[in-house]
Amino acid sequence: MDTTSSTTGTTTAGALRSAVADASRLLASRGLVVGTAGNVSARVGDLVAITPTGADLSTLVADEVCLVDLDGHQVAGDLAPTSELGLHLGVYVDAPSAAGVVHTHAPASTAAACVVDRLPVLHYNQLALGGELRVAPFHPFGTPALAAAVREALDGRLAALMANHGAIAVGPSLAKAVEHALLTEWLADLHARAVALGTPRPLTPAQQEAVIEVALRTGYGTTHRVGAPR
Ligand SMILES: [Zn+2]
Repeated sequence: MDTTSSTTGTTTAGALRSAVADASRLLASRGLVVGTAGNVSARVGDLVAITPTGADLSTLVADEVCLVDLDGHQVAGDLAPTSELGLHLGVYVDAPSAAGVVHTHAPASTAAACVVDRLPVLHYNQLALGGELRVAPFHPFGTPALAAAVREALDGRLAALMANHGAIAVGPSLAKAVEHALLTEWLADLHARAVALGTPRPLTPAQQEAVIEVALRTGYGTTHRVGAPR
């Protein structure tokens, strides 16, 4: 037995489960998940750490986080995984670069998902998620039909809404997936406030292109040292 790789594997699994527990408590502290609603996962290679079904995410610890392979077979943990396990695994299959998935019943996102069929680009920050966000049609939680609908809604996007249910966000790391979940909630809240004031004015395709051009040129969203060349 190769003890080096075994130890590394154990460390990786432990770090993955800790990261999921930390992200779950953070999302609860920010009001995006309440009680047992919502689920979080992180992936490294063939391993996926995912929140258990029925656990309070605001107090989740690493030992309670399930570890499964990409086929859904449990590798570690005593608790059964979330009923949305199939959804998370499907997202990882569709997007091999995805390393984190966050599903919430966050208030503004869920409210929007009860009303609109899409979230237009009102603010340029939404371009970080790929543009206009789709709303996946309603299917009962935990079903293959819901997973298929959400995977389709995520095509070319890093977030989507789920009709009369909630939201999902994906990232190249769990930290990014959390960031995208927070951004989705902010955008849904912005949309509600804008609609309350009148008829929102979405950014035109040309305006979106112009923003992307400036962002690429200036490295928007990243820090720079003073005087460093852009
Ligand atoms: Zn849900």
